[in-house]
Amino acid sequence: MTATAERAASALERYEAVIGIEIHCQLRTASKMFCSCSTQYDGAPPNTHTCPVCLGLPGALPVMNKAAVEHVIATGLAIEASVPEHTQWERKNYFYPDLPKGYQISQYAIPLAADGRLTVDTSAGPFTVLIRRAHLEEDTAKLAHGDAPSSSGYRTTLVDFNRSGAPLMEIVTEPCLRTAEQARRYAEELQLLLRAIGVSDADMERGQMRVEANVSLRPRGTEPFGTRVEVKNMNSFRAVERAIAYEIDRQAAAIDAGEPLSMETRGWDDGRQATYRMRSKETSEDYRYFPEPDLPPLRVDRAWIERIRDGVPELPAARRKRYVAAGITPYDASVIVADQGMTGAFEAISAAGAAVPAKEVANFVTGPHARLAKAAGLNPRGTAGPSDPREIAAILAAIADGTVGRPIGRDLLDRHLADGTPAADLLATVRSTISDDDDLLAHVEAVIRANPKAVADFRAGKPVTGFFVGQVMRATGGAADAARVTALVRARLEAEG
Ligand code: ADP
Ligand code: MG
Ligand code: ZN
Repeated sequence: MTATAERAASALERYEAVIGIEIHCQLRTASKMFCSCSTQYDGAPPNTHTCPVCLGLPGALPVMNKAAVEHVIATGLAIEASVPEHTQWERKNYFYPDLPKGYQISQYAIPLAADGRLTVDTSAGPFTVLIRRAHLEEDTAKLAHGDAPSSSGYRTTLVDFNRSGAPLMEIVTEPCLRTAEQARRYAEELQLLLRAIGVSDADMERGQMRVEANVSLRPRGTEPFGTRVEVKNMNSFRAVERAIAYEIDRQAAAIDAGEPLSMETRGWDDGRQATYRMRSKETSEDYRYFPEPDLPPLRVDRAWIERIRDGVPELPAARRKRYVAAGITPYDASVIVADQGMTGAFEAISAAGAAVPAKEVANFVTGPHARLAKAAGLNPRGTAGPSDPREIAAILAAIADGTVGRPIGRDLLDRHLADGTPAADLLATVRSTISDDDDLLAHVEAVIRANPKAVADFRAGKPVTGFFVGQVMRATGGAADAARVTALVRARLEAEG
């Protein structure tokens, strides 16, 4: 535990933390929220994905992106929220250089999803987060602040409108969370859920998922909420947990010292591991919300909702439950479900080898597969590695039914993953021997692989069996039956020839 986390824990003996989380996530759509500009602007030169609508030029008219609406409804269904029959668009008015129109089109009075929930596992057991609402809005442009004053003496700030008007979903919880860990776990689980239903890539480092935490304290045993502070700019799950712990500690110290807290927006500084004041907090009255005159109200047809519901796939919680029921440990189930690459590999191998016990597949996926994916620097959300799931399933089946013992089986998997040798060939090599020789075979295998030159000599017809037998006898400390070793070496060399 960090010193801050320890102090926060001690503050929590006297105070209860009240935490509400707001999460903005960029929706995965081809085009922006109210125009046909592409959302594939990552890495594109600035201001190349723009048009009069997303540049906020006077007279340009917005047209609603239906796919974005469907993504929010799908999210609403996945968090067991209710979806209204009608909703409308509203203008949220404020000035900022990243907002060319001077207002953001958003939803205020009637969110697309309301009163949902998401249950997460924490170190203290399951915890259900109550979700107040999820609504749709448009993203702002991006500012790039120059660090040196220009020749005019001003510091320059550049505006990139590529992101302007990208569809954004805001998900707001009730002030129902009580610990920093609950907040981190909620953000993690929500990310899995958004990825599972395919509505967002939700990458925190890339700003596709932005978490803001509202934190206040109240003396234990009292009802009224204290003054809240909103914390922004946390770009990892760990930062979410640390920033909240920091705020709990900071606010407790202020209250203890009799200093008043102010309702403000603070930023998280990951370098200093501290929050800092950014500005005082706006209230909703400041935004002068009013209905958007350029867009008609939105009728949400019940049949439309049912079609969207049919497209919602298995959610992470259900998947974990299914894996545990199939015999995987809860820990392995959560490791696999937390990683789309592992999930994909698990599903593919299980489908290819119906006879392979789930536990065997899980061991492979969390072991050799995960190591390989990590070493190859594969996108953790990419699909299974380079190998064919049927090949892996064939080797795992041979391990499961005892055709090959575990050490040999592991070795075969490594060899298959390393050079793609077909499972059938690998299995044919070991099938010529018997499984109770596994340990011995592992030594034979190791010695053969460590001496490619001697193998080449064997192919060239030179007498090398004795050399290999000697190596194996040495590796086993002379404990092996030399006649048996000789037979195994011969069989193994035949396969090599
Ligand atoms: P805003 O419009 O300023 O974003 P909201 O009322 O929508 O304010 O609340 C934003 C978030 O703050 C919600 O997640 C809510 O649960 C949470 N929240 C509200 N009051 C408090 C409080 N006193 N302490 C902690 N969180 C709070
Ligand atoms: Mg808010
Ligand atoms: Zn546009």
